[in-house]
Amino acid sequence: MERPAAGEVHMSQAIQPAHANSRGELSAGQLLKWIDATACLAAEKHAGVSCVTASVDDIQFEETARVGQVITIKAKVTRAFSTSMEIHLKPVTLLTEQDHVEHNLASERRKVRLQHEDTFQNLVKESGKFDDPVCDEDDGMVSTRGTSVQSIELVLPPHANHHGNTFGGQIMAWMEMVATISASRLCQAHPLLKSVDMFKFRGPSTVGDRLVFNAIVNNTFQTCVEVGVRVEAFDCQEWAEGRGRHINSAFLIYHAVNDKEELVKFPRVKPMSKDDFRRYHGAIARKRIRLGRKYVISHKEEVPFRIHWDVSDQAALSEDNVEAFKKLVAKSGWEVTSAVEKIKIYTLEEHDILSVWVEKHVEKPAHLAYHLLSDFTKRPLWDPHYMSCEVIDCVSEDDQIYYITCPRANGTKPKDLVVLVSRRRPPKDSDTYMVAVKSVILPSFPPSPQYIRSEIICAGFLIHATDSSSCTVSYFNQISASILPYFAGNLGGWSKSIEETAASCIQFIENATDDGLISIF
Ligand code: ADP
Repeated sequence: MERPAAGEVHMSQAIQPAHANSRGELSAGQLLKWIDATACLAAEKHAGVSCVTASVDDIQFEETARVGQVITIKAKVTRAFSTSMEIHLKPVTLLTEQDHVEHNLASERRKVRLQHEDTFQNLVKESGKFDDPVCDEDDGMVSTRGTSVQSIELVLPPHANHHGNTFGGQIMAWMEMVATISASRLCQAHPLLKSVDMFKFRGPSTVGDRLVFNAIVNNTFQTCVEVGVRVEAFDCQEWAEGRGRHINSAFLIYHAVNDKEELVKFPRVKPMSKDDFRRYHGAIARKRIRLGRKYVISHKEEVPFRIHWDVSDQAALSEDNVEAFKKLVAKSGWEVTSAVEKIKIYTLEEHDILSVWVEKHVEKPAHLAYHLLSDFTKRPLWDPHYMSCEVIDCVSEDDQIYYITCPRANGTKPKDLVVLVSRRRPPKDSDTYMVAVKSVILPSFPPSPQYIRSEIICAGFLIHATDSSSCTVSYFNQISASILPYFAGNLGGWSKSIEETAASCIQFIENATDDGLISIF
Protein backbone atom coordinates (compact mmCIF):
# COMPACT_ATOMS: atom_id res chain seq x y z
CA MET A 1 0.00 0.00 0.00
CA GLU A 2 1.39 3.42 -0.94
CA ARG A 3 2.18 5.75 1.92
CA PRO A 4 0.26 9.01 2.23
CA ALA A 5 2.10 12.10 1.04
CA ALA A 6 2.61 15.01 3.43
CA GLY A 7 -0.70 16.63 4.26
CA GLU A 8 -2.69 13.55 3.26
CA VAL A 9 -4.59 11.12 5.41
CA HIS A 10 -5.46 7.58 4.30
CA MET A 11 -8.02 5.36 6.00
CA SER A 12 -8.34 1.67 5.08
CA GLN A 13 -11.30 -0.38 6.23
CA ALA A 14 -12.13 -4.04 5.71
CA ILE A 15 -15.85 -4.16 5.00
CA GLN A 16 -17.63 -6.33 7.59
CA PRO A 17 -21.25 -7.49 7.61
CA ALA A 18 -22.02 -4.79 10.17
CA HIS A 19 -21.08 -2.13 7.57
CA ALA A 20 -23.31 -3.60 4.89
CA ASN A 21 -26.96 -3.50 3.88
CA SER A 22 -29.11 -6.59 3.48
CA ARG A 23 -27.60 -7.20 0.03
CA GLY A 24 -24.05 -7.38 1.38
CA GLU A 25 -23.05 -4.03 -0.10
CA LEU A 26 -21.26 -1.36 1.90
CA SER A 27 -24.01 0.96 3.14
CA ALA A 28 -23.78 4.50 1.84
CA GLY A 29 -24.26 5.81 5.38
CA GLN A 30 -21.20 3.94 6.64
CA LEU A 31 -19.17 5.22 3.70
CA LEU A 32 -20.28 8.79 4.45
CA LYS A 33 -19.12 8.32 8.06
CA TRP A 34 -15.66 7.15 6.93
CA ILE A 35 -15.34 9.90 4.34
CA ASP A 36 -16.22 12.53 6.93
CA ALA A 37 -13.85 11.09 9.54
CA THR A 38 -10.93 10.96 7.08
CA ALA A 39 -11.61 14.48 5.83
CA CYS A 40 -11.84 15.78 9.38
CA LEU A 41 -8.49 14.17 10.29
CA ALA A 42 -6.82 15.76 7.24
CA ALA A 43 -8.27 19.13 8.18
CA GLU A 44 -6.97 18.78 11.74
CA LYS A 45 -3.51 17.86 10.46
CA HIS A 46 -3.52 21.11 8.47
CA ALA A 47 -5.11 23.34 11.12
CA GLY A 48 -3.60 21.92 14.31
CA VAL A 49 -6.93 22.27 16.12
CA SER A 50 -10.00 20.10 16.31
CA CYS A 51 -12.30 20.55 13.28
CA VAL A 52 -15.98 19.97 12.53
CA THR A 53 -17.61 19.57 9.12
CA ALA A 54 -19.18 22.84 7.99
CA SER A 55 -20.46 21.87 4.55
CA VAL A 56 -20.30 19.06 2.05
CA ASP A 57 -20.20 19.44 -1.72
CA ASP A 58 -22.09 17.20 -4.10
CA ILE A 59 -21.07 13.58 -3.65
CA GLN A 60 -21.48 11.07 -6.48
CA PHE A 61 -21.49 7.34 -5.84
CA GLU A 62 -20.14 5.38 -8.77
CA GLU A 63 -19.44 1.84 -7.63
CA THR A 64 -20.60 -0.38 -4.82
CA ALA A 65 -18.17 -2.14 -2.48
CA ARG A 66 -19.04 -5.46 -0.86
CA VAL A 67 -18.40 -7.34 2.37
CA GLY A 68 -14.90 -8.84 2.28
CA GLN A 69 -13.42 -6.00 0.22
CA VAL A 70 -11.05 -3.38 1.54
CA ILE A 71 -11.76 0.26 0.93
CA THR A 72 -9.18 3.06 1.11
CA ILE A 73 -10.26 6.62 1.63
CA LYS A 74 -7.72 9.32 0.84
CA ALA A 75 -8.16 12.89 1.98
CA LYS A 76 -6.11 16.01 1.53
CA VAL A 77 -6.67 19.70 2.05
CA THR A 78 -7.00 21.25 -1.40
CA ARG A 79 -7.42 24.80 -0.31
CA ALA A 80 -7.84 26.76 2.90
CA PHE A 81 -10.22 29.72 2.91
CA SER A 82 -10.04 32.21 5.77
CA THR A 83 -12.18 30.26 8.22
CA SER A 84 -12.86 27.08 6.32
CA MET A 85 -10.93 24.65 4.21
CA GLU A 86 -11.87 22.25 1.53
CA ILE A 87 -11.13 18.58 1.46
CA HIS A 88 -12.17 16.12 -1.13
CA LEU A 89 -11.78 12.67 -2.09
CA LYS A 90 -9.60 11.93 -5.07
CA PRO A 91 -7.25 9.23 -6.20
CA VAL A 92 -4.18 11.19 -5.25
CA THR A 93 -1.36 11.71 -7.70
CA LEU A 94 0.78 14.45 -6.34
CA LEU A 95 1.85 16.02 -9.61
CA THR A 96 2.25 19.69 -8.98
CA GLU A 97 0.09 20.44 -11.99
CA GLN A 98 -2.68 18.26 -10.60
CA ASP A 99 -2.44 20.06 -7.25
CA HIS A 100 -2.74 23.32 -9.09
CA VAL A 101 -5.86 22.18 -10.94
CA GLU A 102 -7.45 20.97 -7.71
CA HIS A 103 -6.61 24.25 -6.01
CA ASN A 104 -8.35 26.23 -8.78
CA LEU A 105 -11.31 23.87 -8.87
CA ALA A 106 -11.73 24.39 -5.13
CA SER A 107 -12.20 28.09 -5.73
CA GLU A 108 -14.62 27.39 -8.63
CA ARG A 109 -16.64 25.19 -6.28
CA ARG A 110 -16.62 27.91 -3.66
CA LYS A 111 -17.93 30.44 -6.19
CA VAL A 112 -20.74 28.06 -7.11
CA ARG A 113 -21.47 27.45 -3.40
CA LEU A 114 -21.74 31.17 -2.73
CA GLN A 115 -23.98 31.80 -5.77
CA HIS A 116 -26.09 28.77 -5.05
CA GLU A 117 -29.03 30.43 -3.33
CA ASP A 118 -29.60 32.99 -6.13
CA THR A 119 -29.20 30.38 -8.86
CA PHE A 120 -31.63 28.09 -7.05
CA GLN A 121 -34.31 30.76 -6.64
CA ASN A 122 -34.08 31.71 -10.34
CA LEU A 123 -34.39 28.11 -11.45
CA VAL A 124 -37.37 27.44 -9.16
CA LYS A 125 -39.11 30.43 -10.71
CA GLU A 126 -38.31 29.14 -14.19
CA SER A 127 -39.46 25.62 -13.35
CA GLY A 128 -42.78 27.04 -12.08
CA LYS A 129 -43.29 28.60 -15.54
CA PHE A 130 -42.89 25.28 -17.43
CA ASP A 131 -45.97 24.08 -19.24
CA ASP A 132 -46.59 22.18 -16.06
CA PRO A 133 -46.23 18.42 -16.49
CA VAL A 134 -48.45 18.02 -13.45
CA CYS A 135 -51.54 19.15 -15.33
CA ASP A 136 -50.90 17.21 -18.55
CA GLU A 137 -51.73 13.64 -17.67
CA ASP A 138 -52.77 12.19 -14.39
CA ASP A 139 -52.32 8.55 -15.31
CA GLY A 140 -50.04 6.54 -13.08
CA MET A 141 -49.08 9.50 -10.94
CA VAL A 142 -48.76 8.86 -7.25
CA SER A 143 -49.05 10.98 -4.15
CA THR A 144 -45.92 11.18 -2.01
CA ARG A 145 -47.86 11.01 1.25
CA GLY A 146 -46.89 7.39 1.86
CA THR A 147 -43.19 8.17 1.56
CA SER A 148 -43.09 10.41 4.62
CA VAL A 149 -40.78 8.91 7.27
CA GLN A 150 -39.82 10.20 10.69
CA SER A 151 -37.08 8.86 12.90
CA ILE A 152 -35.28 9.91 16.05
CA GLU A 153 -31.78 9.32 17.41
CA LEU A 154 -30.24 10.17 20.76
CA VAL A 155 -26.65 11.45 20.34
CA LEU A 156 -24.34 9.36 22.57
CA PRO A 157 -20.57 9.77 23.17
CA PRO A 158 -19.54 7.34 20.37
CA HIS A 159 -21.38 9.59 17.88
CA ALA A 160 -19.31 12.64 18.82
CA ASN A 161 -15.73 13.89 19.04
CA HIS A 162 -13.96 14.51 22.34
CA HIS A 163 -15.53 17.97 22.60
CA GLY A 164 -18.95 16.36 22.43
CA ASN A 165 -19.78 17.69 18.90
CA THR A 166 -21.76 15.19 16.85
CA PHE A 167 -19.75 13.92 13.85
CA GLY A 168 -21.14 15.31 10.60
CA GLY A 169 -20.70 11.89 9.01
CA GLN A 170 -22.84 10.28 11.71
CA ILE A 171 -25.67 12.73 11.01
CA MET A 172 -25.30 12.04 7.27
CA ALA A 173 -25.46 8.28 7.92
CA TRP A 174 -28.67 8.68 9.91
CA MET A 175 -30.13 10.90 7.19
CA GLU A 176 -29.27 8.32 4.57
CA MET A 177 -31.03 5.58 6.52
CA VAL A 178 -34.28 7.54 6.79
CA ALA A 179 -34.08 8.63 3.14
CA THR A 180 -33.55 5.04 1.98
CA ILE A 181 -36.73 3.98 3.78
CA SER A 182 -38.62 6.85 2.18
CA ALA A 183 -37.37 5.96 -1.35
CA SER A 184 -38.21 2.28 -0.85
CA ARG A 185 -41.84 3.19 -0.16
CA LEU A 186 -42.21 4.42 -3.73
CA CYS A 187 -41.03 1.22 -5.38
CA GLN A 188 -40.91 -2.43 -4.59
CA ALA A 189 -37.16 -2.46 -5.12
CA HIS A 190 -33.79 -1.76 -3.48
CA PRO A 191 -32.84 1.92 -3.46
CA LEU A 192 -29.17 2.65 -4.24
CA LEU A 193 -27.78 6.04 -3.27
CA LYS A 194 -26.49 7.80 -6.38
CA SER A 195 -25.63 11.26 -5.12
CA VAL A 196 -26.03 13.70 -2.28
CA ASP A 197 -26.47 17.39 -3.00
CA MET A 198 -24.16 19.81 -1.32
CA PHE A 199 -25.32 21.04 2.04
CA LYS A 200 -24.23 23.16 4.98
CA PHE A 201 -24.42 22.34 8.64
CA ARG A 202 -26.41 25.25 10.01
CA GLY A 203 -25.50 24.80 13.64
CA PRO A 204 -23.80 22.37 16.00
CA SER A 205 -25.34 19.42 17.75
CA THR A 206 -23.87 17.78 20.82
CA VAL A 207 -24.05 14.67 22.96
CA GLY A 208 -27.44 14.46 24.64
CA ASP A 209 -29.35 16.02 21.72
CA ARG A 210 -32.33 14.19 20.29
CA LEU A 211 -32.12 14.42 16.52
CA VAL A 212 -35.42 14.23 14.66
CA PHE A 213 -35.21 13.27 10.99
CA ASN A 214 -38.10 13.93 8.61
CA ALA A 215 -37.90 12.61 5.06
CA ILE A 216 -40.22 12.60 2.06
CA VAL A 217 -39.93 12.06 -1.69
CA ASN A 218 -39.95 15.43 -3.47
CA ASN A 219 -39.91 14.34 -7.11
CA THR A 220 -38.97 11.54 -9.48
CA PHE A 221 -37.08 11.67 -12.80
CA GLN A 222 -37.44 8.46 -14.80
CA THR A 223 -34.98 6.17 -13.02
CA CYS A 224 -34.10 8.48 -10.12
CA VAL A 225 -35.90 9.83 -7.14
CA GLU A 226 -35.06 12.81 -4.93
CA VAL A 227 -35.65 12.38 -1.21
CA GLY A 228 -35.32 15.39 1.09
CA VAL A 229 -34.41 15.08 4.76
CA ARG A 230 -34.65 17.77 7.40
CA VAL A 231 -32.86 17.33 10.73
CA GLU A 232 -33.77 19.15 13.92
CA ALA A 233 -31.99 18.88 17.26
CA PHE A 234 -33.56 19.20 20.70
CA ASP A 235 -31.77 19.32 24.03
CA CYS A 236 -33.71 18.20 27.08
CA GLN A 237 -35.47 21.49 27.64
CA GLU A 238 -36.16 22.11 23.93
CA TRP A 239 -37.55 18.59 23.75
CA ALA A 240 -40.07 19.29 26.48
CA GLU A 241 -41.01 22.60 24.85
CA GLY A 242 -41.23 21.09 21.35
CA ARG A 243 -38.88 23.73 19.95
CA GLY A 244 -35.97 22.34 17.91
CA ARG A 245 -32.91 23.74 16.15
CA HIS A 246 -32.64 23.22 12.40
CA ILE A 247 -29.31 21.40 11.99
CA ASN A 248 -29.41 20.80 8.26
CA SER A 249 -31.41 19.65 5.26
CA ALA A 250 -30.07 17.36 2.57
CA PHE A 251 -31.33 16.05 -0.75
CA LEU A 252 -30.41 12.52 -1.73
CA ILE A 253 -30.81 10.97 -5.15
CA TYR A 254 -31.49 7.26 -5.48
CA HIS A 255 -31.72 4.69 -8.23
CA ALA A 256 -33.54 1.48 -7.48
CA VAL A 257 -32.88 -2.00 -8.82
CA ASN A 258 -35.20 -4.99 -8.84
CA ASP A 259 -34.23 -8.56 -8.01
CA LYS A 260 -32.79 -8.98 -11.50
CA GLU A 261 -30.54 -5.96 -10.88
CA GLU A 262 -32.46 -3.91 -13.48
CA LEU A 263 -33.03 -0.21 -12.95
CA VAL A 264 -36.60 0.51 -11.93
CA LYS A 265 -38.62 3.31 -13.48
CA PHE A 266 -40.27 5.40 -10.78
CA PRO A 267 -43.88 6.56 -11.07
CA ARG A 268 -44.36 10.31 -11.56
CA VAL A 269 -45.34 12.05 -8.35
CA LYS A 270 -48.42 14.15 -7.93
CA PRO A 271 -47.90 17.13 -5.65
CA MET A 272 -51.00 18.04 -3.63
CA SER A 273 -50.17 20.58 -0.93
CA LYS A 274 -48.39 23.90 -1.27
CA ASP A 275 -45.29 22.36 0.34
CA ASP A 276 -45.43 19.45 -2.13
CA PHE A 277 -45.45 21.89 -5.06
CA ARG A 278 -42.62 23.97 -3.64
CA ARG A 279 -40.48 20.87 -3.12
CA TYR A 280 -41.46 19.41 -6.51
CA HIS A 281 -40.12 22.52 -8.29
CA GLY A 282 -37.18 22.72 -5.88
CA ALA A 283 -36.19 19.21 -6.96
CA ILE A 284 -36.27 20.20 -10.66
CA ALA A 285 -34.05 23.21 -9.95
CA ARG A 286 -31.62 21.12 -7.88
CA LYS A 287 -31.41 18.56 -10.67
CA ARG A 288 -30.27 21.24 -13.12
CA ILE A 289 -27.75 22.70 -10.69
CA ARG A 290 -26.42 19.21 -9.98
CA LEU A 291 -25.98 18.47 -13.65
CA GLY A 292 -24.24 21.78 -14.20
CA ARG A 293 -22.02 21.44 -11.14
CA LYS A 294 -21.08 17.89 -11.95
CA TYR A 295 -19.62 18.94 -15.27
CA VAL A 296 -18.40 22.45 -14.60
CA ILE A 297 -16.28 21.50 -11.63
CA SER A 298 -15.03 18.14 -12.67
CA HIS A 299 -11.65 18.16 -14.31
CA LYS A 300 -11.77 16.11 -17.48
CA GLU A 301 -9.12 15.27 -19.98
CA GLU A 302 -10.03 15.63 -23.62
CA VAL A 303 -10.37 12.22 -25.22
CA PRO A 304 -9.17 12.51 -28.79
CA PHE A 305 -11.98 11.28 -31.01
CA ARG A 306 -11.03 12.95 -34.24
CA ILE A 307 -10.97 11.19 -37.50
CA HIS A 308 -7.96 11.45 -39.78
CA TRP A 309 -9.19 12.76 -43.09
CA ASP A 310 -8.33 10.36 -45.87
CA VAL A 311 -9.13 11.43 -49.43
CA SER A 312 -9.31 7.86 -50.67
CA ASP A 313 -11.98 7.08 -48.10
CA GLN A 314 -13.91 10.33 -48.11
CA ALA A 315 -17.31 8.95 -49.12
CA ALA A 316 -17.27 6.44 -46.27
CA LEU A 317 -16.07 9.06 -43.77
CA SER A 318 -18.91 11.37 -44.80
CA GLU A 319 -21.43 8.56 -44.40
CA ASP A 320 -19.98 7.75 -40.96
CA ASN A 321 -20.51 11.37 -40.00
CA VAL A 322 -24.19 11.16 -40.96
CA GLU A 323 -24.67 7.75 -39.33
CA ALA A 324 -23.08 8.86 -36.04
CA PHE A 325 -25.41 11.86 -35.98
CA LYS A 326 -28.47 9.70 -36.70
CA LYS A 327 -27.47 7.46 -33.80
CA LEU A 328 -27.20 10.42 -31.41
CA VAL A 329 -30.64 11.69 -32.50
CA ALA A 330 -32.23 8.26 -32.07
CA LYS A 331 -30.99 7.72 -28.51
CA SER A 332 -33.61 7.17 -25.85
CA GLY A 333 -33.67 8.74 -22.43
CA TRP A 334 -33.56 12.46 -23.36
CA GLU A 335 -34.96 14.53 -20.51
CA VAL A 336 -36.35 18.06 -20.67
CA THR A 337 -34.12 20.34 -18.61
CA SER A 338 -35.68 23.66 -19.52
CA ALA A 339 -38.52 24.97 -21.64
CA VAL A 340 -38.93 28.67 -22.21
CA GLU A 341 -41.23 29.94 -24.95
CA LYS A 342 -40.14 28.52 -28.32
CA ILE A 343 -36.95 26.90 -26.99
CA LYS A 344 -36.75 23.55 -25.24
CA ILE A 345 -33.48 22.08 -23.94
CA TYR A 346 -33.11 18.33 -23.40
CA THR A 347 -30.14 16.51 -21.94
CA LEU A 348 -28.96 12.94 -22.03
CA GLU A 349 -26.41 11.51 -19.63
CA GLU A 350 -24.77 8.21 -20.47
CA HIS A 351 -22.16 7.42 -17.85
CA ASP A 352 -20.00 10.53 -18.02
CA ILE A 353 -21.02 11.58 -21.50
CA LEU A 354 -23.39 14.51 -21.66
CA SER A 355 -25.36 15.36 -24.78
CA VAL A 356 -27.59 18.35 -25.34
CA TRP A 357 -30.54 18.81 -27.67
CA VAL A 358 -31.95 22.29 -28.24
CA GLU A 359 -35.32 22.30 -29.97
CA LYS A 360 -36.77 25.50 -31.39
CA HIS A 361 -39.83 26.39 -33.36
CA VAL A 362 -39.24 28.51 -36.46
CA GLU A 363 -41.88 30.30 -38.56
CA LYS A 364 -40.24 29.61 -41.92
CA PRO A 365 -40.32 26.58 -44.23
CA ALA A 366 -37.97 23.68 -43.46
CA HIS A 367 -36.11 23.90 -46.80
CA LEU A 368 -35.18 27.50 -46.07
CA ALA A 369 -33.91 26.72 -42.56
CA TYR A 370 -31.89 23.86 -44.08
CA HIS A 371 -30.45 26.10 -46.77
CA LEU A 372 -29.33 28.66 -44.16
CA LEU A 373 -28.07 26.31 -41.46
CA SER A 374 -26.23 23.86 -43.67
CA ASP A 375 -24.03 26.65 -45.03
CA PHE A 376 -21.60 27.10 -42.16
CA THR A 377 -20.09 30.24 -43.69
CA LYS A 378 -23.31 31.92 -42.48
CA ARG A 379 -22.97 30.65 -38.94
CA PRO A 380 -20.95 33.62 -37.60
CA LEU A 381 -23.96 35.78 -38.58
CA TRP A 382 -26.07 34.27 -35.80
CA ASP A 383 -23.83 32.21 -33.52
CA PRO A 384 -21.72 34.39 -31.19
CA HIS A 385 -19.41 31.40 -30.54
CA TYR A 386 -18.25 31.44 -34.16
CA MET A 387 -15.92 34.19 -35.28
CA SER A 388 -15.04 33.02 -38.79
CA CYS A 389 -15.88 30.00 -40.86
CA GLU A 390 -14.39 29.17 -44.27
CA VAL A 391 -14.59 26.16 -46.57
CA ILE A 392 -11.17 24.55 -46.87
CA ASP A 393 -12.12 21.41 -48.76
CA CYS A 394 -15.15 20.75 -50.94
CA VAL A 395 -15.49 17.00 -50.66
CA SER A 396 -18.75 16.95 -52.59
CA GLU A 397 -21.72 19.24 -53.07
CA ASP A 398 -23.10 18.11 -49.71
CA ASP A 399 -19.92 17.40 -47.73
CA GLN A 400 -17.50 20.17 -46.91
CA ILE A 401 -14.62 20.70 -44.55
CA TYR A 402 -14.54 24.02 -42.71
CA TYR A 403 -11.94 25.85 -40.69
CA ILE A 404 -13.63 27.70 -37.82
CA THR A 405 -12.28 30.23 -35.34
CA CYS A 406 -14.04 31.21 -32.13
CA PRO A 407 -13.81 34.47 -30.21
CA ARG A 408 -11.51 34.77 -27.22
CA ALA A 409 -13.29 34.00 -23.95
CA ASN A 410 -12.27 35.38 -20.53
CA GLY A 411 -8.57 35.74 -20.98
CA THR A 412 -7.87 32.36 -22.54
CA LYS A 413 -6.52 31.76 -26.04
CA PRO A 414 -9.24 31.63 -28.72
CA LYS A 415 -10.28 28.23 -30.02
CA ASP A 416 -10.28 26.88 -33.54
CA LEU A 417 -11.76 23.79 -35.18
CA VAL A 418 -11.56 21.75 -38.37
CA VAL A 419 -14.88 20.04 -39.04
CA LEU A 420 -16.60 17.97 -41.65
CA VAL A 421 -20.16 19.14 -42.33
CA SER A 422 -22.36 16.64 -44.19
CA ARG A 423 -25.84 17.73 -45.17
CA ARG A 424 -28.65 15.49 -46.39
CA ARG A 425 -32.04 16.32 -47.86
CA PRO A 426 -34.99 14.16 -46.79
CA PRO A 427 -35.41 10.81 -48.46
CA LYS A 428 -38.71 10.34 -50.35
CA ASP A 429 -40.91 9.22 -47.47
CA SER A 430 -39.70 11.78 -44.95
CA ASP A 431 -39.61 15.51 -44.37
CA THR A 432 -36.56 15.68 -42.14
CA TYR A 433 -33.39 17.45 -43.22
CA MET A 434 -30.08 16.70 -41.57
CA VAL A 435 -26.74 18.47 -41.11
CA ALA A 436 -24.08 16.35 -39.38
CA VAL A 437 -20.84 17.79 -37.96
CA LYS A 438 -17.67 16.24 -36.56
CA SER A 439 -14.03 17.16 -36.18
CA VAL A 440 -11.48 15.76 -38.58
CA ILE A 441 -7.69 15.95 -38.70
CA LEU A 442 -6.39 17.60 -41.83
CA PRO A 443 -2.57 17.62 -42.13
CA SER A 444 -2.73 20.91 -44.08
CA PHE A 445 -4.45 22.59 -41.10
CA PRO A 446 -2.39 21.60 -38.04
CA PRO A 447 -3.04 23.21 -34.65
CA SER A 448 -1.31 26.59 -34.33
CA PRO A 449 0.18 28.23 -31.24
CA GLN A 450 -2.31 31.14 -31.38
CA TYR A 451 -5.33 28.88 -30.97
CA ILE A 452 -6.47 26.05 -28.76
CA ARG A 453 -7.59 23.29 -31.11
CA SER A 454 -11.10 22.36 -29.98
CA GLU A 455 -13.26 19.56 -31.28
CA ILE A 456 -16.75 18.38 -32.04
CA ILE A 457 -17.34 14.71 -31.35
CA CYS A 458 -20.79 14.56 -32.89
CA ALA A 459 -23.20 17.42 -33.48
CA GLY A 460 -25.61 18.84 -36.03
CA PHE A 461 -29.05 20.06 -36.98
CA LEU A 462 -32.22 18.15 -37.64
CA ILE A 463 -34.87 20.18 -39.44
CA HIS A 464 -38.36 18.85 -39.48
CA ALA A 465 -41.24 20.51 -41.38
CA THR A 466 -44.29 21.09 -39.18
CA ASP A 467 -46.28 22.50 -42.15
CA SER A 468 -45.43 24.27 -45.39
CA SER A 469 -44.45 27.49 -43.64
CA SER A 470 -42.92 26.44 -40.32
CA CYS A 471 -40.50 23.90 -38.94
CA THR A 472 -38.75 22.58 -35.86
CA VAL A 473 -35.00 23.05 -35.80
CA SER A 474 -33.17 20.73 -33.40
CA TYR A 475 -29.53 21.20 -32.57
CA PHE A 476 -27.72 18.21 -31.06
CA ASN A 477 -24.26 18.11 -29.54
CA GLN A 478 -22.40 15.33 -27.77
CA ILE A 479 -20.34 17.50 -25.54
CA SER A 480 -16.56 17.36 -25.68
CA ALA A 481 -14.45 18.40 -22.69
CA SER A 482 -13.45 21.72 -24.26
CA ILE A 483 -17.01 23.05 -24.44
CA LEU A 484 -18.30 21.30 -21.34
CA PRO A 485 -17.98 24.24 -18.94
CA TYR A 486 -19.98 26.40 -21.33
CA PHE A 487 -22.88 23.96 -21.55
CA ALA A 488 -22.67 22.99 -17.90
CA GLY A 489 -22.91 26.62 -16.83
CA ASN A 490 -26.01 26.96 -18.89
CA LEU A 491 -27.67 23.83 -17.58
CA GLY A 492 -26.73 24.70 -14.03
CA GLY A 493 -28.55 28.01 -14.39
CA TRP A 494 -25.68 30.47 -14.14
CA SER A 495 -25.62 31.39 -17.81
CA LYS A 496 -28.26 31.78 -20.50
CA SER A 497 -26.12 31.46 -23.59
CA ILE A 498 -27.80 28.35 -25.06
CA GLU A 499 -31.15 30.14 -25.03
CA GLU A 500 -29.60 33.34 -26.38
CA THR A 501 -27.88 31.52 -29.23
CA ALA A 502 -31.07 29.59 -30.04
CA ALA A 503 -33.10 32.83 -30.07
CA SER A 504 -30.53 34.41 -32.36
CA CYS A 505 -30.76 31.39 -34.69
CA ILE A 506 -34.57 31.66 -34.85
CA GLN A 507 -34.35 35.36 -35.57
CA PHE A 508 -31.75 34.81 -38.29
CA ILE A 509 -33.93 32.30 -40.14
CA GLU A 510 -37.16 34.23 -39.66
CA ASN A 511 -35.58 37.44 -40.96
CA ALA A 512 -34.40 35.83 -44.19
CA THR A 513 -36.52 36.23 -47.32
CA ASP A 514 -38.08 33.11 -48.78
CA ASP A 515 -35.40 32.75 -51.43
CA GLY A 516 -32.85 32.51 -48.68
CA LEU A 517 -31.48 36.03 -48.88
CA ILE A 518 -30.63 37.52 -45.57
CA SER A 519 -32.44 40.83 -45.47
CA ILE A 520 -31.75 42.41 -42.12
CA PHE A 521 -29.60 41.24 -39.32
P1 ADP B 1 -37.87 22.64 1.82
O1 ADP B 1 -39.18 22.23 2.42
O2 ADP B 1 -37.87 24.05 1.27
O3 ADP B 1 -37.35 21.67 0.81
P2 ADP B 1 -36.68 22.04 4.45
O4 ADP B 1 -35.30 22.34 4.93
O5 ADP B 1 -37.80 22.45 5.33
O6 ADP B 1 -36.76 22.71 3.00
O7 ADP B 1 -36.81 20.49 4.21
C1 ADP B 1 -35.88 19.76 3.45
C2 ADP B 1 -36.54 18.51 2.91
O8 ADP B 1 -36.85 17.64 4.00
C3 ADP B 1 -37.88 18.75 2.22
O9 ADP B 1 -37.69 19.07 0.85
C4 ADP B 1 -38.60 17.46 2.43
O10 ADP B 1 -38.20 16.52 1.47
C5 ADP B 1 -38.08 16.98 3.79
N1 ADP B 1 -39.01 17.37 4.88
C6 ADP B 1 -39.05 18.54 5.52
N2 ADP B 1 -40.05 18.55 6.44
C7 ADP B 1 -40.65 17.36 6.40
C8 ADP B 1 -41.73 16.72 7.10
N3 ADP B 1 -42.40 17.36 8.07
N4 ADP B 1 -42.04 15.46 6.76
C9 ADP B 1 -41.37 14.80 5.81
N5 ADP B 1 -40.35 15.35 5.12
C10 ADP B 1 -39.98 16.59 5.40
